[in-house]
Amino acid sequence: MKAKVMANIQLDKLVIASGNKKKRAEIESILSNLGIDVVPANQTVFVDVIEDADSFAGNAKKKADAFKAANGCAALADDSGLCVAALNDAPGVYSARFAGEHASDDENNTKLLHELQGIQDRTAYFICALHLALPDGSEITVEGRVEGLIVERQTGDTGFGYDPLFFSPELDKTFAQASPQEKASVSHRGRALRLLQKKLS
Ligand code: IMP
Repeated sequence: MKAKVMANIQLDKLVIASGNKKKRAEIESILSNLGIDVVPANQTVFVDVIEDADSFAGNAKKKADAFKAANGCAALADDSGLCVAALNDAPGVYSARFAGEHASDDENNTKLLHELQGIQDRTAYFICALHLALPDGSEITVEGRVEGLIVERQTGDTGFGYDPLFFSPELDKTFAQASPQEKASVSHRGRALRLLQKKLS
């Protein structure tokens, strides 16, 4: 694994504090474009963190701190979700369990379409809070956002979560119709990771 020195921070060992395979793959791919390698999932000690903070940043910090303690190295956590204007920014921090504990992506998408039936205002945004916890006790939190519209039916088959319902005016397609590179170029996660890189360097 290559050691990446940025400012005074040596990121020679970094774990991703997430068990969500698709989210993890997105983070790993964007980090590798930024020249940062991460500890592979099969060498990472996973911790089941209860995400009960009332903010994305609060949950990201909980996850990063727990993974840092368990692995004894720097940990990066992402807490993210979808906020829909007509639903007073729901599902928000409850995005993963909108249709219930352990709900599938399809169940969450079906519930979202149901809640938005007959509603004209389809504006929404994705938000991603990243928290980097470093072994010396220092920490960095950044946030990225992307604006979009919730479409009437699931469209596209790449990505994960609410991607098939999230139309990006910047890409002129839903996130589930975009390639991983296209999505990363505008997404909340891509923006947050690039901001983190800027802060580190
Ligand atoms: P977390 O693991 O608690 O951060 O849950 C985030 C949830 O928000 C995911 O399970 C998805 O439902 C949703 N989400 C976050 N980022 C994305 C994305 O990039 N595309 C689609 N859905 C997302």
